[in-house]
Amino acid sequence: MTTARIPPLADTGLWQAVMNAAAGRCQCRGACGKNHTKDGGRCPREHGGYNQHHGGGTVHLIAAPTEPADLLLPPHKAATLPKARLSAWCPACHDAAQRAARKTLATTTPATEPDALF
Ligand SMILES: [Zn+2]
Ligand SMILES: [Zn+2]
Repeated sequence: MTTARIPPLADTGLWQAVMNAAAGRCQCRGACGKNHTKDGGRCPREHGGYNQHHGGGTVHLIAAPTEPADLLLPPHKAATLPKARLSAWCPACHDAAQRAARKTLATTTPATEPDALF
């Protein structure tokens, strides 16, 4: 996912507001599939910090929906969410949380109607 590198809400004051509320730190508390317990239950990545994975470089946090269901919204819809429904995410947690949300959606939405079996 190369598009995840571009903060979808970067052009609005909203991104800054979300970052301020998050103190510039990823707000993932396990939605990505890691529980982050050794980091106090919250991802330790901070905006502008050093990225230990993905080949190094600087961490660029993105403002994205807090709720897994909202994470599946297309960017133009996610951009209309109020700040209260957004969180700061590091790209690694955001991508993983989005994948997890898709998986949940796939397992909770049956591909075939139960009636089709009979
Ligand atoms: Zn994170
Ligand atoms: Zn995480």
